[in-house]
Amino acid sequence: MPSIFSRIVAREIPADIVFENDRVIAFRDIAPQAPVHLLVVPKSQNFANVAELAAADPELLAEVVSTAQQLAAEHANGEFRLVFNSGETAGQTVFHVHAHVLAGGLSESSLA
Ligand code: AMP
Repeated sequence: MPSIFSRIVAREIPADIVFENDRVIAFRDIAPQAPVHLLVVPKSQNFANVAELAAADPELLAEVVSTAQQLAAEHANGEFRLVFNSGETAGQTVFHVHAHVLAGGLSESSLA
């Protein structure tokens, strides 16, 4: 079954997409936890979490991080928090690896 993020990649469901290339896509989180809350997602849904991604394709993980940096510079002041929830008890709800990029006034965030 395609994940909800694969369905966004396929344009089957809408999203506010802010970046896309051959390997990653980024869009605004539907339930933002910070003034800037973006998700950076490898297009492949082969990896459920960041540990699987790191083991299998460290270059793709590095691309997720560099995309986060680029987007934080474009949407905030370049400073950001990067969160990978890994596992249900850690709060992961979508088992298609994704980075939360949180930026812009994080002192007011519930995650601060
Ligand atoms: P996690 O709980 O770490 O797996 O993160 C999943 C994130 O995906 C949550 O922050 C949700 O708000 C977000 N999310 C779920 N569905 C969508 C969607 N259709 N568009 C944008 N963000 C979504």
